[in-house]
Amino acid sequence: MNKNLTISGYSTALFSTWFFVEELGLLFDAGDGVSAGLIGKAGKVKHVFISHADRDHLTGLLQFNQLNGMRQPKIYYPKDCGSFPHLAEFTEKFDPHLPKQSIWVPLQEHDKVQIHSGAVVQILPNNHVVTPEKTKSFSFLVQKVKRKLKQEYKGWSTDQIVRLRQEKGADFLTEEIRENILGYSGDTAMDDPKKWENTQVLIHESTFIDEKHQLNSKSKHSLLEDVLEMAAQINLKALILSHFSVRYSSEKIDSTIQALSQKYNLSTPVYRILPGEQVWDILAQDPVYPGKIST
Ligand SMILES: [Zn+2]
Repeated sequence: MNKNLTISGYSTALFSTWFFVEELGLLFDAGDGVSAGLIGKAGKVKHVFISHADRDHLTGLLQFNQLNGMRQPKIYYPKDCGSFPHLAEFTEKFDPHLPKQSIWVPLQEHDKVQIHSGAVVQILPNNHVVTPEKTKSFSFLVQKVKRKLKQEYKGWSTDQIVRLRQEKGADFLTEEIRENILGYSGDTAMDDPKKWENTQVLIHESTFIDEKHQLNSKSKHSLLEDVLEMAAQINLKALILSHFSVRYSSEKIDSTIQALSQKYNLSTPVYRILPGEQVWDILAQDPVYPGKIST
């Protein structure tokens, strides 16, 4: 695939999840071991988006803040999760010698966060934690924002364009285009597949392989088969599966991904993070399922 993003991470249900996107200076979740995993790269993180308040997604923050708080990264969290302000206060008291600290930013669903001039993160609700009137868990969609010449000026000469730009300004000639470059599901059971339509790279959780384990679980997580079925219905360039339960062996995970991807005739290459494994530059690895050229 045309690889633009260097995505590295660790993701094992119940223990720890984090994903680092180097080009965007972005961290999705900050589970245990994130600083030890990132080592020298940790300083490149400018924006940390925490999907929800479960321990396996945030316990790495204490170490991360001690090592990187001086650079004042922003830590975004669901506003309705009351535990984050406690964590912010505790961190500040635990490390009072640090003259600068991370900046904590509460978010609500449908907020848009500009992470740099050309990229915006959209905050999408999901169904992992459902509480009346409150949203305590999020998915994230990163969009690249560009401006492109409006269709009606396509045939114009350079002279005409320059003159019009002088008269009306550059924005008059162009329109904003948003490209969905990266999606991160956070922890969630499957919800509306349309939210990931035309996303170049989707990181989606797939905690369970066996439906009876999913039904027995108190919290809401996705079934691998549902994720692959969804991926077959929408346009993606790459799918990264994550957050598998440790009850499944690596062989079981890989063979099930391959069998189900074939069953749904999936055209998207599928990558995965196996339980207990940290992977650097996931998209540079061989996919576990190569995808098909659609006819
Ligand atoms: Zn989790």
